[in-house]
Amino acid sequence: METKAPMKVIIVGGAIAGLTLAHSLKHANIDYQVIDAYPIASPVGASIAIFQNGCMVLDQLGIYQDLRSLVHPLKTMNIRLPSGKVLAAPPAGTLLEQRFGYSICLLPRQRLIQLLYDHLEDKSKVHAGHGKKVIRVAHSTDGVEVFTEDGSSYSGDVVVGCDGIHSSVRSEMWRHAELNHPGIPLADRSAFASEFTCLFGIAGAVPGLPPGESNIVHGKPASFLTFIGLNGDVYFFLYMRMSERHLWPDSPRFSQEQGESLANAHMGAHITEDVTFGDIWTKRKTFTLLPMEEGVLQDWHWGRFAVVGDAAHKMTVNLGQGGNSAIESAAALANALNEANLCRRGDRVSQEEIEMALSNYQESRRPRLVTIGRAAFEIARSQALEGLKPWLFFSRVFFDNTFLADLSTEQFLGTVLLNYIRKPIRLDNSLWLQGNNQSLTKPPSFHFFACAALVLTLSWILKK
Ligand SMILES: Cc1cc2nc3c(=O)[nH]c(=O)nc-3n(C[C@H](O)[C@H](O)[C@H](O)COP(=O)(O)OP(=O)(O)OC[C@H]3O[C@@H](n4cnc5c(N)ncnc54)[C@H](O)[C@@H]3O)c2cc1C
Repeated sequence: METKAPMKVIIVGGAIAGLTLAHSLKHANIDYQVIDAYPIASPVGASIAIFQNGCMVLDQLGIYQDLRSLVHPLKTMNIRLPSGKVLAAPPAGTLLEQRFGYSICLLPRQRLIQLLYDHLEDKSKVHAGHGKKVIRVAHSTDGVEVFTEDGSSYSGDVVVGCDGIHSSVRSEMWRHAELNHPGIPLADRSAFASEFTCLFGIAGAVPGLPPGESNIVHGKPASFLTFIGLNGDVYFFLYMRMSERHLWPDSPRFSQEQGESLANAHMGAHITEDVTFGDIWTKRKTFTLLPMEEGVLQDWHWGRFAVVGDAAHKMTVNLGQGGNSAIESAAALANALNEANLCRRGDRVSQEEIEMALSNYQESRRPRLVTIGRAAFEIARSQALEGLKPWLFFSRVFFDNTFLADLSTEQFLGTVLLNYIRKPIRLDNSLWLQGNNQSLTKPPSFHFFACAALVLTLSWILKK
């Protein structure tokens, strides 16, 4: 019987994208190694909301049930004015749960990564911690060799950069592309830019902020988001526009002192009518101030290189889709590699077959990411009360309690699932399988148009 050499993928980055890819490849019987510069699930003090699209893929991988047991699901999204007054309280989480069969899962990012790691059967394939920073990748028609700081090297058929916004693999991909086809990746070198900062952290329970709710507070110069998770823990975000736009890699870095002084300047800002940002800040356990890069690469692959997650598509935190999109992209790449592995003509999968697979991967994801990235871009500006769009948004959510859930539903109906694992049973009775391709967002009502006209007229008068 003919035996074929197993395909081997070197995954750089053992966080959301990298570990989801590792699980997905295991199910496709594709060999892999994961390399990370830091111990897996190092604490960074960030939280994450896994929405229905991320949940579906994690369910295929047998992880959703355990994820669900760790969280208090998000039910209501309170849309608030700068005074903290509620403009609308759509039960978006409840509706999405009814439509898809999955909860919106809020938890510390570290716990999600730990869960992904705990579910990996063969931990000897993970090389993480001191000395494991990837510093160079050698590429030839025969394969790749990935070198780490401690002098080790790992060889394979493909190298995948799941190493975040400051991706070393992406830099190495550009270096090799430039050597072989000068000029090709130039546009991508300025693909990411930041205009907003985000001060985020986790605080203990605050009276007046019940679990299962989120508060989206529109405002200028700062806007706020809080998610209330298990035990009342508050996952908080303060967004601010920076005085100038920064092109990556010249993104600013901030100290803890700068984070504290930003918080101190907004202690009196309202999260609800009765709770201020200061009430949350005094209960803080962790906090970090970061720039929020935005951008979608033009080219997600070259030769035997591919990038996944934040290394390929980075967006503002406001939409809560960076990590969910990383999960979907990992699934899409695994689909493409699985097909190449099954359909290869020779003993080893050829570079041509790999390039075709990577091109299919990009094609299956990039258009969706451009749309999602645009939505995250708009939401960040809308929450910052820039332009007229926030006022149209207010009118829409005020008159239509299902508007937010409808928007998300349309987006989640396009989720990329692993096509070689059966669809989760939870989807059997969901909207997903009803083949509902028609637009769910209802046409705006007469009230909406009347209110929008009023808002536009008032803003025009105020500007004059
Ligand atoms: C405060 C905050 C809240 C967020 N909330 C949400 C949310 O609610 N929902 C959502 O979907 N998204 C959210 N996001 C975005 C989400 O966290 C990211 O999109 C997601 O973590 C990206 O995952 P990743 O695996 O691509 O990259 P990363 O999480 O950046 O992981 C990269 C990994 O690569 C490793 N690495 C880097 N360089 C090297 C190297 N040279 N060698 C070896 N290893 C390396 C790092 O150690 C790290 O483990 C949030 C982001 C922030 C900052």
